[in-house]
Amino acid sequence: MTESTAGRTDLDPAGTAERSRVEAHPAQEFGADPLTVRETDHYTNEYVKGFVEKWDDLIDWRKRYESEGSFFVDLLKSRGVKSVLDVATGTGFHSVRLVEEGFDTVSVDGSAEMLAKAFENGLEYGGHILRVVHADWRWLNRDVHGEFDAVVCLGNSFTHLFSERDRRKALAEFYAVLKHDGVLILDQRNYDSILDSGFSSKHTYYYCGEEVTAEPEYVDEGLARFRYQFPDSSQYHLNMFPLRKDYTRRLLREVGFQRVETYGDFQETFTADDPDFFIHVAEKR
Ligand code: SAM
Repeated sequence: MTESTAGRTDLDPAGTAERSRVEAHPAQEFGADPLTVRETDHYTNEYVKGFVEKWDDLIDWRKRYESEGSFFVDLLKSRGVKSVLDVATGTGFHSVRLVEEGFDTVSVDGSAEMLAKAFENGLEYGGHILRVVHADWRWLNRDVHGEFDAVVCLGNSFTHLFSERDRRKALAEFYAVLKHDGVLILDQRNYDSILDSGFSSKHTYYYCGEEVTAEPEYVDEGLARFRYQFPDSSQYHLNMFPLRKDYTRRLLREVGFQRVETYGDFQETFTADDPDFFIHVAEKR
């Protein structure tokens, strides 16, 4: 072995370590002009492993649990719900909560990465074996069989759909998997306030303390690009469609839900005064 090759050749002849590091944590790919990335199918490229792991390390599930309280659980119990389809499982926060509360829960996500993490989290937080199904909302009924009392789509997930056709298709699939008197609970960020108060007055959203900040980096009527920053200065982005509250409500009615009630920030009443989140409760009957 020569001196010049010793540093690299001996330890890692084929550069395997670097390759496997990159494979284990692939970077997010938004291409040369990230503002043109406005496609529903892109979501699986955005939730890369590094982002997912970091997010879960920093967002303290206990704190999230406290800030959310029993809002969703109370809503479901008050309607006599027994079976729930969590269509946006992500890393499993709501699925685990639902299982713990005794709901017969099935956990869906279109990202295999997310479902793997959710399954791990289920075991870690209480030894639960989550029933996971890898499916895209637009073809949900191809992969999920049976009917549920409730479908939940939480954590600002519906925002990942970029065309109205995809939104209608997904909502129709949610509708179809519900029993005749089922309920859909779907939340979204308050994009009206971000769009209307202008980019200059954007505010920073802190998740569970100040460890993760989320800021709108660019917003127009067709794109909200958020930047997520972590304490080690790493950053990730999500490109989302900025759903206006009344638009979502209209779509819910148009696909057939009879009653749509909207809450602000887990409160029964809200003034239009800037809640960060809206929660739509759509009843089939
Ligand atoms: N509900 C979780 C939470 O609050 O922590 C996760 C929310 S995360 C923002 C959104 C999730 O929706 C991701 O796990 C993503 O893979 C999933 N998702 C987005 N679009 C989807 C689609 N078309 N079909 C299935 N899952 C989708």
